Amino acid sequence: MTRNEQLDLSQLNPEQHAAVTHGAGPLLIVAGPGSGKTRVITHRIAWLIREQGVDPGRILAVTFTRRAAHEMQGRLTHLVGGLPAQQMWLGTFHHLCVRMLRMRPMLAEIPNRFTILDQDDQRQVVRRATANLRLDPRVFLPKETLKEISSHKRLRLTPTMFADQAQTEYDSTVARIWEAYEAENHAAGALDFDDVLIVGYRLLAGPASARLFHKKFLHTLVDEFQDVDDLQYDLMRGWSAGSGNVTVVGDPDQAIYSWRGAGAHMIDQFREDHTTLTEIELNTNYRSTQQILDVANAVMLSSPGRKPRELTAISPPGEKPRLDQLRNEGDEARYIADQILMPENSASHRPSEILVLYRTHAQSRPVEEALIRASVSYRIIGAPRFYEREEIRDLIAYLRLVWNPAEHAAFLRIVNTPRRGVGKRSLLALTQWAAEHDRSLMEAARFAIDRDASSVSPPTVSRRAANGLRRFLDVIDQAREIQERQPLDAALKYIIDEIRVHEHILHLHPSDANDRWENIQELLSVAARYADMPPGTSLEAFLTDIALFTEVREGQPDEVESVTLATIHRAKGLEFPAVFVIGCEDGLLPHSRSIAEDKTDRVEEERRLLYVAITRAERFLYLTHTLIRANAGPARIREPSSFLTEVPDTVLTITTSNAHSVGSEMASRRPFQPMRGDDQSDVARPGDQVTHQAFGNGVVLAVKPLDGDAEIIVQFETVGMKHLRASLALLQKS
Ligand code: ATP
Ligand code: MG
Repeated sequence: MTRNEQLDLSQLNPEQHAAVTHGAGPLLIVAGPGSGKTRVITHRIAWLIREQGVDPGRILAVTFTRRAAHEMQGRLTHLVGGLPAQQMWLGTFHHLCVRMLRMRPMLAEIPNRFTILDQDDQRQVVRRATANLRLDPRVFLPKETLKEISSHKRLRLTPTMFADQAQTEYDSTVARIWEAYEAENHAAGALDFDDVLIVGYRLLAGPASARLFHKKFLHTLVDEFQDVDDLQYDLMRGWSAGSGNVTVVGDPDQAIYSWRGAGAHMIDQFREDHTTLTEIELNTNYRSTQQILDVANAVMLSSPGRKPRELTAISPPGEKPRLDQLRNEGDEARYIADQILMPENSASHRPSEILVLYRTHAQSRPVEEALIRASVSYRIIGAPRFYEREEIRDLIAYLRLVWNPAEHAAFLRIVNTPRRGVGKRSLLALTQWAAEHDRSLMEAARFAIDRDASSVSPPTVSRRAANGLRRFLDVIDQAREIQERQPLDAALKYIIDEIRVHEHILHLHPSDANDRWENIQELLSVAARYADMPPGTSLEAFLTDIALFTEVREGQPDEVESVTLATIHRAKGLEFPAVFVIGCEDGLLPHSRSIAEDKTDRVEEERRLLYVAITRAERFLYLTHTLIRANAGPARIREPSSFLTEVPDTVLTITTSNAHSVGSEMASRRPFQPMRGDDQSDVARPGDQVTHQAFGNGVVLAVKPLDGDAEIIVQFETVGMKHLRASLALLQKS
């Protein structure tokens, strides 16, 4: 194969061609999704290496995620061969900085073998610093302190500078914690996430590195430029300072990280800083059908202050995208499973062609369930499967121990989660004792705290451990009692409250506490579905059911035959033949947090998220919303996303489920009155809000005749859907 065959520039349109073969100097490409921005970067690198003879080791390219870097590396391997593709500097800002620092640790004034701290490590260091300074950790919460430190670090302040400008006692104290935090990290040769970028920048800005790094890079290229923040911008400036050859591509409509300080304003900054700039627009979308782009355009149309930009497709026309209303999240998930290729349904999709996008991690749970039931394999980008998530596994371990006190694995997983002072030695004593006496760990723990109860010599544990074990056994025993008398979710809720899960995740995992909490709420709503079983039997049913979803899978799911699931934030740059965007509802998209803050900026960022999601689709786009959703909490009536209610039905096929009239019927609620099945005229109607003695509040979804009686299908807020016999149900309209 000749070089030119491998790098065929004739496949580019004139604007792309101009961008790929742009000579020296800064180049800015602002263009919409699917217009070939990433393709231009890849081809430009190939062109520089192949046609211009640029040494690959002198080209630096920044991608937004490791995954994107990996993909680009794969394409470049095709275009220029494996070795040059490896010699290039290709990766995320973070990765590229680490590489620089590993190369010249001395110059950066860091130890040769520095370690990098993750968020949990960082929090430990802050906690120690707070304790050493004898400060109250309830006032100086590690999470908050760390946030303060990080935001000021990103502004490149030092603890001393921060102390000098501190206006309040609180700030001065944070400065002291910060100083101690830095001192410990320094002594340990450790860098946190911010340090990597900051030290990287210091290295670049230092006098000695002008020779080393500024001259080194002949070309710098940045993908997803709209999501670059200040510090990253300066890094880019540093890398391109010597050559002046910098190519950036971005799309202000896809800026979804403004909460991190990134945003479209960086594009203006770039224009200001590079007066000799060449700017190229790309106007053709190669990814999607015009029908999909029409929906994307309509979503952005009413975005205030946005520069109008329409996308035009080159692909042959396709099907009109759909906005389908489903009854609840279970139906929504089954709807996806139903679209997967079945031998008898030729209109459907292969699993590998499907991308399912959602706003919050917790939404994956019903989809996973439906896919597992349909025996379709799936993978989740950037997150474990629902039942493999840490916080979920912990709670399940509690429930398993409630059900089967003899289980070793569950005991070991949670006896010290949250921390109860049960150290390694005490655990060892328990396990040894249990093995010797052929007893369970729970029994060992009981004997250890109640030494007199045993005729044999009990295991010896520290006093602290004994106290911890007592509290632990208490939780398990109480939960068992509750579960025997009350619905399952009451027992689960008791555990969650008693071990203070919310507080712990806020402390231990500040960066994704919301996601974790939403997952836990989701687990609660799964448990609530067992509420109508006789107490004492529901736990076993629940554990048996979820065993289906927690089964350990061997190896990686096969990419060829798997459906892909991801949050929209993880969907950058991706493209799939068929995309499902689920949960297109107010409260999820836009997310309730953005609505609550009542800031246009935040809501507009949510709009851009929807835009990013829609524009991932090549040929088929399915948007769904539900009437009632029990996701992350009790079931509530939902409204379709306000971003979509403005989209005309000329571009979107809009359907509603059988119970679509609930919204309007809700308006004409009738006063309280008991409903009797024998009086057909007074049987409930879809949309009625009702109360049931045992199941609580709900909404009538449908009423069907049933041999002289009627079947009323009700979606209850806490227990989910029930089919009730009207004559026996004794529903009250509320
Ligand atoms: P996003 O903003 O979503 O990241 P993008 O602008 O980076 O999108 P690409 O991913 O580079 O777009 O391109 C979208 C799709 O269009 C890819 O499959 C790409 O290979 C294809 N494509 C781009 N340009 C052309 C072209 N000139 N001819 C054929 N296909 C093209
Ligand atoms: Mg791209």
